Amino acid sequence: MPRQDKPFKCNECGMAFSDEYSLYVHMAERHGLEMPRKGRKLARAFLRMIHM
Ligand SMILES: [Zn+2]
Repeated sequence: MPRQDKPFKCNECGMAFSDEYSLYVHMAERHGLEMPRKGRKLARAFLRMIHM
């Protein structure tokens, strides 16, 4: 079974990311797409994680 380090792929440019949150940030910053509700939820969890 091939190991996938970056399973989250951008539909716009094909760039791949290892986590969902990075993909949402990329989409928002590079393509001007609004972060989905799920992304905001992930962002909160992510911020909690880095502030620990
Ligand atoms: Zn992209």
